[in-house]
Amino acid sequence: MLIYDIDLHSLTDLLNQWNEPAYRAKQIWQGLYQHFYDSPKQFTNLPKSLREKLAENLTFSPFKVKTYIDSSDGYTRKTLFELPDKNLIEAVLMRYGDPADNPQITAPRFVSANAPLSANLRGAKNRRTLCISTQAGCAMGCVFCATGQMGFKRHLSSGEIIAQVMYYARMLKAENQVVTNIVLMGMGEPFHNYDNTMAAIDRLNDPDGYNFGARRFTISTVGLVPQIRRFADEKRQVNLAISLHAADDESRVSMLPINKKYKIGEVIDACHYYVAQTHRRITFEWALINGVNDTPEVAQKLAARLKGLLCHVNAIPLNPTLGYSGQATSRERAAVFKESLEQAGIPCTIRMRRGIDIQAGCGQLAGAVYS
Ligand code: SAH
Ligand code: SF4
Repeated sequence: MLIYDIDLHSLTDLLNQWNEPAYRAKQIWQGLYQHFYDSPKQFTNLPKSLREKLAENLTFSPFKVKTYIDSSDGYTRKTLFELPDKNLIEAVLMRYGDPADNPQITAPRFVSANAPLSANLRGAKNRRTLCISTQAGCAMGCVFCATGQMGFKRHLSSGEIIAQVMYYARMLKAENQVVTNIVLMGMGEPFHNYDNTMAAIDRLNDPDGYNFGARRFTISTVGLVPQIRRFADEKRQVNLAISLHAADDESRVSMLPINKKYKIGEVIDACHYYVAQTHRRITFEWALINGVNDTPEVAQKLAARLKGLLCHVNAIPLNPTLGYSGQATSRERAAVFKESLEQAGIPCTIRMRRGIDIQAGCGQLAGAVYS
């Protein structure tokens, strides 16, 4: 069993079965989530016999680093992990900061796994956003999405979700840096794997462990209505983003097949419910596709849909993928789209694509910035 799949309570039970005192569980927890140990050997504060027992009974690493790629500016790293069943998942680190804190660098693009990041990136301040996967593949089949094009492989366990974070936390720690934000926008639909995703967030949120604040997570969903309502009822402090991409059902269903099941109107109703329950602002994601959903008319339709909702729109020019012929909107058209939305009273940010040269986040969310 993977150690990250176990919560503190079950770990305490397990140690109890092994006739170990309860405080050992806390020590292991701290080793995992505060020191980011990934081998029983590192737990030098535990007796040797217990370290051996841990090694015999639990797995500390659920995947191998297959490869990684740094963007040519060195600010973005995508790591491809291979799971024991050979499924591949990816997680992306995006660094943001004042240019003064980020000296110009040119990082090598295809470098051997586990090489340290370029030295002159160390000391760069500000945001370190991780984009992690919740499934291998995805069942939702959105036409422009590289993950959707590959189909569904399987859900990730809570521990496999957590292990992606620990991997980067460990890497950043070696540079005296920390992860500042986590977005669940990698491969997969988090609300299709609801329980494991929430278990991962809860475990990462544990004040005795990694202690990562709920407000620094963002979950992105394609719009699974029952789960949006459940999430609202749970009144979590985690940020919510909804992938909308179209303002009418006809257009949305041609891009996002799930819209056959949950129509835009139902999604927006669930969003009103979420805001009423939590008083939190929703983000709508919008991949700007040239000539498809980037005109001022579409912007007006969208504004009418979102009227009265505490929200803002995060628009990102499409990352072209092999399986879809749509192209990215130009900078100029994106600016007009933003202007039209804002004139109609809906705040909009145009995100620049990050890591475009490495297809960051399955070619998906490259510019997503959440703070
Ligand atoms: N399944 C979730 C989260 C993962 S996708 C969801 O769909 O929301 C994260 C974001 O990337 C979504 O908004 C998705 O619509 C967007 N995306 C996917 N493929 C993209 C592409 N080729 N270009 C731009 N955005 C893309
Ligand atoms: Fe799945 Fe999200 Fe890609 Fe749609 S955009 S196929 S929901 S990962």
